[in-house]
Amino acid sequence: MAEFDFDVLVIGAGPGGYVAAIRAAQLGLKTACAESRETLGGTCLNVGCIPSKALLNASEIYEEAHEGVFAKFGIKTEGVSLDLDAMHAEKTKAVGELTGGIEYLFKKNKVEWLKGLATFTGANTVEVAGKTVTAKKIVIATGSSVTPLPGVEIDQKVVIDSTGALALPKVPEHMVVIGGGVIGLELGSVWRRLGAKVTVVEFLDQILPGFDGEVRKESTKIFKKQGFDIKTGTKVTGVAVNGGKATVTVEPAAGGAAETIEADAVLVSIGRRPNTDGLGLDKIGLATNNRGQIEVGHDFQTAVKGVYAIGDVTPGPMLAHKAEDEGVAVAEFISGITGIVNHDVIPSVVYTHPEIAGVGLTEEQAKEKGAIKVGKFPMMANSRAKTIRDTDGFVKVIAEADSDRVLGVWVVSSVAGTMIAQAAQAMEFGATSEDIAYTCHAHPTHSEAIKEAAMAVQGKPIHI
Ligand code: FAD
Ligand code: NAD
Repeated sequence: MAEFDFDVLVIGAGPGGYVAAIRAAQLGLKTACAESRETLGGTCLNVGCIPSKALLNASEIYEEAHEGVFAKFGIKTEGVSLDLDAMHAEKTKAVGELTGGIEYLFKKNKVEWLKGLATFTGANTVEVAGKTVTAKKIVIATGSSVTPLPGVEIDQKVVIDSTGALALPKVPEHMVVIGGGVIGLELGSVWRRLGAKVTVVEFLDQILPGFDGEVRKESTKIFKKQGFDIKTGTKVTGVAVNGGKATVTVEPAAGGAAETIEADAVLVSIGRRPNTDGLGLDKIGLATNNRGQIEVGHDFQTAVKGVYAIGDVTPGPMLAHKAEDEGVAVAEFISGITGIVNHDVIPSVVYTHPEIAGVGLTEEQAKEKGAIKVGKFPMMANSRAKTIRDTDGFVKVIAEADSDRVLGVWVVSSVAGTMIAQAAQAMEFGATSEDIAYTCHAHPTHSEAIKEAAMAVQGKPIHI
């Protein structure tokens, strides 16, 4: 009889966990994955990346039809109206197809889904739905949940988190978004496009922490132009709910006079925190750091031998593709191959309109490390952006002064999320700005703006 029930047991079937499980099975390891949700795919597929992008797409089409963009191109639509239930139904279909797809992939790769909440009872043993399961290696991929705002109770009716904001049954008149980060701006965009007035209250002096300073400033200008009311340097001190309405009390972050804002929806989006409650980490003597995260070594192994961790529950950006890449790498390490994730080259995309994307260092971070050269190119001078009448934004390429090696690329453009892939690949290959500048880019494409920004690093762009 085998010593353990499984070679590998993965806890959590989000992008980190399901990918780790599939890769481990592909590598010939007997693999199980414990997941307590009704469907596989974790936060990303069920209540994150996928439903939010479905609503972002649908709301964008609605706004274009409703606000005259179609008409500008000579496409006459009359009596455009919103069927929100149909929009939600289409989103639900996309989610169902993708979560069902993971179930299919589990079956195809012979990954056993253990349905229920897993709790450690020992370093090789977990309990799932009352059953004890043993495994030689265990991977924690339990993800993250919404960070609550002390004193503000989420009722998912008036005061909502991202999950509530993906399922509102009607368009609010006024939505207050607490936190001008990725979730606040994406889901704020959805409801603004569908007709809500949206006020963003951000504690810091700028929205989008972690992004390049110039990108943050330009984005603020664009969002304000779209009608967002953005209150930076402002903190929420309380939310009172009465009869389906909320009164949000805010005051300057630096201290000062309080004011109130009336709203019929309040979205709390001030960040996410790692999921470790109920996991029984104390049973295996595994402590979390002061941010509640599980620290790991280069091979994703925790301080407890044979126990690994990946994705949102570990340090680093809370992004699905970071979790996925770590999922592949951890399975490879477990099977004896060297897994590779370059944590210096993880792109980040905000799927608003325009999209906002970056990879590598911000200009501020790069300057701290030494001398740099920066090249910029406005989308206004990009022929494709001109043809589609959508010229907001710019591309910025940051290179090391001496070596010309690209350290960071930032893009604000309608298709920035797609454009950033070439920048990530160039950086992964150790490209210089000259390498990008001398790469032939198809015309007319938005990506030519990356080539021109790289040419601008040398001071010789053609089209400005
Ligand atoms: P998760 O996806 O959180 O999965 C963890 C799973 O573990 C969950 O299903 C949970 O039920 C399960 N679990 C937890 N504890 C246990 C236990 N003890 N036993 C059994 N199961 C357990 N990222 C992007 O890159 N792009 C985006 O566009 C994007 N959009 C987002 C939009 C929203 C609204 C949100 C909330 C997040 C978004 N993210 C996006 C972030 C992305 O969802 C996460 O980074 C990603 O899901 C992390 O993957 P993970 O596998 O680490 O964890
Ligand atoms: P975030 O960290 O992106 O933004 C939170 C914002 O809230 C920050 O700007 C912060 O300064 C502000 N804040 C914190 N406390 C506050 C307070 N008391 N009052 C006012 N503002 C306050 O977090 P998020 O938007 O909640 O997203 C969580 C995670 O999900 C992020 O790490 C993100 O990477 C991930 N996510 C990614 C995508 C994407 O890749 N497109 C989309 C959605 C979510």
